[in-house]
Amino acid sequence: MRTALSTGKIGFLERVLRDFFRRAGREHLPWRARTVGAYEIWVSEIMLQQTQVSRVIGYYEKFLVRFPTVGSLAKATWEEFLPYYRGLGYYARGRNMLATAKMIVETYDGKFPKDVNELGKLPGVGPYTAAAIASFAYGRNTIAWDTNLHRVVGRFFFGSRRADLPKEKLEDILSMKAKVFNAAMMDFGSAICTARPKCGACPLSSRCVYFSEDGQREKQETRHKKQDTKISKTSNKKSKINWRDARAFVFLHENHRKYYSSRKTKFVPFAIPPSHNTRAGVKDWFRDRHGLELAVRPPHRKEMVDGKPTIFINAQILSGTPEFAVFPKGVLP
Ligand code: SF4
Repeated sequence: MRTALSTGKIGFLERVLRDFFRRAGREHLPWRARTVGAYEIWVSEIMLQQTQVSRVIGYYEKFLVRFPTVGSLAKATWEEFLPYYRGLGYYARGRNMLATAKMIVETYDGKFPKDVNELGKLPGVGPYTAAAIASFAYGRNTIAWDTNLHRVVGRFFFGSRRADLPKEKLEDILSMKAKVFNAAMMDFGSAICTARPKCGACPLSSRCVYFSEDGQREKQETRHKKQDTKISKTSNKKSKINWRDARAFVFLHENHRKYYSSRKTKFVPFAIPPSHNTRAGVKDWFRDRHGLELAVRPPHRKEMVDGKPTIFINAQILSGTPEFAVFPKGVLP
């Protein structure tokens, strides 16, 4: 697989990408302006997690008028912050934004760190976002591996977006600045090499493995994945567990740094009966009994616990004052 990454082929990819970016790059996006710094890039990257570019633009602009610096954001309460974020969903992201702003002011003297590992310590900043900030704001040679980039590289070199990529090797060979490579790949992946690729209009097609194989490898791998999913669904069915009647264990947390417990002396998640085991049901349960508004995630685990079907749900408090015992991160079994 590694031989697929020949320097000649990478050089070709870089030439095509540079040309594409000059002609069709989305340089009009507000977070691509020359004047933006790490703070604005971080705001845009967090908002872009799971949300489309066209939707983010309006939010981004209004947000920066209200909170023009990380210092101004660090001073904001959740209630002041929420009107500029509401509608983007994923409230854990919003909580993380506030936590990060405070951390930047208190721990990093008001400046986002340049090192990708330091950036990765900020709440809500994963490897992709850290690499994007490091490359776009500070010109660091870090490739931001998002799904677009994975899809283009996977198809071009290995014939499938599902390919397992030798990422570090590619980073070593690239001669293009990561800042340009990342931006060009994001744009190329959302304009040409989309989920249904426009190979007929693609300037990479003459050397693209996916194109030369007519996408057969990717189709085959997708078929295998579907079969695997089907098998696991069938085996769940065979076990005759009715998850609709499961109780829910709710893990109420604050940015996964501290956890609220249903017991005072040791950490125990909140056990919610089957009648309230949906996201709406969990919200109602905490609103009615504890006066709390929650953001509730979809279940992330299902298993038998003490012979009872149990689903596991994470939730955070949006408003209200909890009166539960608090336990630190690391308390989870
Ligand atoms: S030829 Fe098709 S699959 Fe290959 S990079 Fe271009 S759009 Fe993607």
